[in-house]
Amino acid sequence: MVDDKLPQVGWCAGLASASVRIHSFDSMRWLKILGWTAWWGLGALARAEEEKPFLYSPVTEVPEWRLLESYQGTITRAQFEDRWRRIFDPSGVLVRYLNLNDEGVEVFRDTAKTQSLFHLRFAPGEGREEKALSATSWSSEKPLLGQVICLDPGHIGGDWADVEERTFRIGRDRPVVEGELNLKTCRLLEERLKQAGAQVVWTHQGFEPTTRLRPADLYPEAIQYMLQDVKSRRFPSYSANGLIRWNAELLFYRTAEIQARARKVNEELRPDLTLCLHYNAAPWGRPGRASLASANRVVLFAHGSYTADELAFDDQKFHLFQKLLENSNPQELEIGAAIGRQFREKWGVPPEDCGNSGYAHATGASPYLWYRNLIANRLFHGPVIFVEGPYMNDRTSYSWIQAGEYEGTRLIGGKMRENIFREYADRVADGVIGLFRERQKRSPAFTNYSP
Ligand SMILES: [Zn+2]
Repeated sequence: MVDDKLPQVGWCAGLASASVRIHSFDSMRWLKILGWTAWWGLGALARAEEEKPFLYSPVTEVPEWRLLESYQGTITRAQFEDRWRRIFDPSGVLVRYLNLNDEGVEVFRDTAKTQSLFHLRFAPGEGREEKALSATSWSSEKPLLGQVICLDPGHIGGDWADVEERTFRIGRDRPVVEGELNLKTCRLLEERLKQAGAQVVWTHQGFEPTTRLRPADLYPEAIQYMLQDVKSRRFPSYSANGLIRWNAELLFYRTAEIQARARKVNEELRPDLTLCLHYNAAPWGRPGRASLASANRVVLFAHGSYTADELAFDDQKFHLFQKLLENSNPQELEIGAAIGRQFREKWGVPPEDCGNSGYAHATGASPYLWYRNLIANRLFHGPVIFVEGPYMNDRTSYSWIQAGEYEGTRLIGGKMRENIFREYADRVADGVIGLFRERQKRSPAFTNYSP
């Protein structure tokens, strides 16, 4: 599950309602609570923060616009407008921050367009050719030869599973811990990708955080973050202190952790493709009283679909430009559609409908593949596909998970099946490997090749 829209609480596609009881706080009540704390400086900070426009997402790095200078003159106005509207901003909200003409586009911090952030000069005429999606390996045994594929098993798991709110238990059954399911599946996926010739790298492999920060390090940011958007945010009904801790934990396992993984991906691993793997869930009621549902869907995410709220932030504008210019989109669409096809053909599980979510829109490449702006697919460079696999609390999937990593096949939900980790890994692996085989067939270099 992913729910990295910070103001939300709830499961993955956010279509599910919250697993924690939540209600709205009005801002005056908030400031009163903070005023009551014995922390003298806090009240003053609260008032100052409320008046100051917040330019960055919480705990984020200040964007380095000069890093985009190498893209000057690389795309035409038509290419810019096509990608902007089709992928990142279908409702056109960004136009409030842009001055656009045939020569280039200037992006501003504010809607009054007084503070310029970056000016992109367009290429005259046709611009640089779109990246060709051709085969890089001619080996039919090893179609992924030369590809570096990064696996990002969702969440941390282990001792952090409770803090992450990514675990549940029914009666005396084995607890279901999403971080552990993701890791098991990724280990089997690694075997398949390696057999097909890929070099496989990982954002993390154990149950330890990648970030060196811990929730206790993030209390000041948590307070600032709570005050940033106090009117519209919804919080769990905790005491003020509990709420600060809850926000610090959120900033730890979601923001700081994924930022640390992004630094590793972008600075050390530099993969050709990143696969973020998750198991999903339908709402399971209150913690400690989890219940099963009869619902199963699969959804994949490509990067895009920024909301109006997100586009108010400088760092979000920066990443939109970075991703638009990097142009990983054609790869994401091809790979996502290929994996989606496997889920339809082998499992027959219907796709999630994120159409009314308010933060995702259809890619058109596959009914399983939606555009969504998540911390990981925004910060990781290169193509990123998010796979939200089976619902852990769907009756059939739940008994499949409880059956563990058995050998051979067993009767699960009326069908003979291999263990769930193996089958999930195979759906993803078959999608990726099958696509690279197809590319070999399409490539003229391949058909002319005689050993
Ligand atoms: Zn997840």
